[in-house]
Amino acid sequence: MKFKGDKRYNNYSTYIKSTFGERVQKISINIGFSCPNRDGTKGVGGCTYCNISSYTPLYCKPKRSVTQQLEEGISFFSTKYKSQKYLAYFQSYTNTYAELDLVKSFYLEAVNHPDVIGLVIGTRPDCVSLELLSFLEDLAKIYYISLEFGVESTLDKSLIATNRCHSYQETIDAYKMSKGRGFALGAHLIIGLPGETREEMLNHAVEVSKLPINMLKLHQLQIVKGTKMAKQIVETPDMFELFEAEEYIEFVTNFISLLRPDIILERFISESPPNMLIAPKWGGIKNFEFVAKVDKRLKEKDFWQGKYFN
Ligand code: SF4
Repeated sequence: MKFKGDKRYNNYSTYIKSTFGERVQKISINIGFSCPNRDGTKGVGGCTYCNISSYTPLYCKPKRSVTQQLEEGISFFSTKYKSQKYLAYFQSYTNTYAELDLVKSFYLEAVNHPDVIGLVIGTRPDCVSLELLSFLEDLAKIYYISLEFGVESTLDKSLIATNRCHSYQETIDAYKMSKGRGFALGAHLIIGLPGETREEMLNHAVEVSKLPINMLKLHQLQIVKGTKMAKQIVETPDMFELFEAEEYIEFVTNFISLLRPDIILERFISESPPNMLIAPKWGGIKNFEFVAKVDKRLKEKDFWQGKYFN
């Protein structure tokens, strides 16, 4: 078991420090693109758990230019930490879903900011083209480029039930198209989707380990206001088996033990604003508190990342 820092897994902040040699902060940028799962191209109504405003920071408003949003984000964070560089994080909605020239112009505007050293781009697996990837490949020769796909589940039954409107095969194909181009490739999974057994959820660790990913974010399923799931949990509560915090800690430690040893773990939980969150309510536990509990439990169990990776 050899991991940098004092963790039993590869953690994101250690990776960032060793990659850049200094503190690096992501600044969320909202470029106001839509999503093919909302505008009717792929589906309508969006994914059943999605209420975009529950994960868009306040400083990030689409009517402002990329530069304005970066300036506001930097002035917000620079009061906390004096010296650091920034990654422009295109997080909300589907950030590759528009005319190619428009997409390129936003990315170029971001990297042209003197304090920005790279981009983190969140998108759907079915929304990347070879033209866009070639453009980003050129940018990756100069800047750090991370491409994050919303995988959410490795099971088609869950992708269908949550109205994702793409298959797991499309996820595999997106990574095939993107690998070897100098990107840091990320994946995002939601743990606790209805219809999945705990064993199936653990098996996501086995499946995503087969993808050419560098980093992984896990989020526990949260039911937030304004979503289809907010209605489902009232109408058919039995379809949900939400995690309690203690059970989720146990789950995460088991998940880590099955994961390929080189994958960097970026997050274990999501934190929707309390006024948006319906369930589960974990008493407002913060990410760093949850991480400390996972670290402690890993030690108690003598587990580490990849201990049971096959
Ligand atoms: S989660 Fe992403 S893909 Fe799904 S509806 Fe929301 S923005 Fe669109």
